[in-house]
Amino acid sequence: MYDVIIVGAGPAGLSAGIYAIRAGMDTLILDKSVWGGQTVLSAEIENYPAVPSVTGPDFAQRMYEQLVELGGSVRLEEVTDIDTEKRSVTTANGVYRAKTVIIAAGLRRRTLGCKGETELTGRGVSYCAVCDGRFFTGKDVVVAGGGNTALEDALFMSSYCRGITILCRSDRMKGEEALKESVSKRENIRILYNVRIEEIQGREAVEAVLLSDGTVLKTSAVFIAIGYEADSAFLKGQLQVTGDGYVVAGEDCHTSAEGVFIAGDLRTKKVRQIVTAAADGAVAALGAADLVLKM
Ligand SMILES: Cc1cc2nc3c(=O)[nH]c(=O)nc-3n(C[C@H](O)[C@H](O)[C@H](O)COP(=O)(O)OP(=O)(O)OC[C@H]3O[C@@H](n4cnc5c(N)ncnc54)[C@H](O)[C@@H]3O)c2cc1C
Repeated sequence: MYDVIIVGAGPAGLSAGIYAIRAGMDTLILDKSVWGGQTVLSAEIENYPAVPSVTGPDFAQRMYEQLVELGGSVRLEEVTDIDTEKRSVTTANGVYRAKTVIIAAGLRRRTLGCKGETELTGRGVSYCAVCDGRFFTGKDVVVAGGGNTALEDALFMSSYCRGITILCRSDRMKGEEALKESVSKRENIRILYNVRIEEIQGREAVEAVLLSDGTVLKTSAVFIAIGYEADSAFLKGQLQVTGDGYVVAGEDCHTSAEGVFIAGDLRTKKVRQIVTAAADGAVAALGAADLVLKM
């Protein structure tokens, strides 16, 4: 039996891991994809104290290496079930038990839900400009979205893609003024307002998008940047969650179940950033360590 199982290896989970190991706890960290969470999708991080500027993938790697230097590791397994009473978690490889559990499962990307999206994912439909943008060097691409992520994605790809069209559902872009200004200065970025993608077309790969005004726009890729949402379905109603899926907990990160903590973006809170996720990880791990000491 572990002292603590941490579900998710984004900033919250890795920070929890670092604190848990330093507190002497026998720690298991599980992630369904790769360490770093959403940070690997970020082109540039400029607001983490003491790290003036770093790419998202480098930031993720540094967090991971810090964990490894302390003797930690991340097992790449998806948690499909949690029993909050027994404090056990289930993956395809079996059931793991612990004295405490920290859920740091973050958020998942929103999808458009239009025809062609699922079929062409990985064949021109992407949710990560930082990861996939380079494949479309010299090509025309579209970005679906109306906020910071769409603006950042367009800027990021503007140095190597031929033309970038941002498709915005409303009559104006949300997002930071500085980003909007940078976008307005790039000659190869244009924004179409009041349009939705009805269908993504293509046989082997993306060829075009059908827009809500009936226009067919030729493109080599569709980058979907319409935000993130809570995905607490794997908790199967065992913890108190809000209507939109966030796990309810205060600043102590303790959930409605004894010995089960929630850290990072999936917790009910106002500010969802790396620094707040890392802070939650620390609070949750030290809370878990307190409980383990009393057992
Ligand atoms: C494009 C982009 C740019 C950003 N830029 C910045 C920035 O510049 N500065 C800043 O402070 N913040 C930024 N953010 C926000 C920041 O990345 C998040 O606030 C932060 O990553 C949240 O950390 P987290 O650990 O709570 O969740 P996440 O980073 O979402 O990590 C959760 C992890 O849990 C794993 N997981 C989920 N479900 C399961 C399961 N069932 N089993 C196992 N593993 C699971 C996921 O695979 C993931 O690795 C950005 C986000 C994006 C998308």
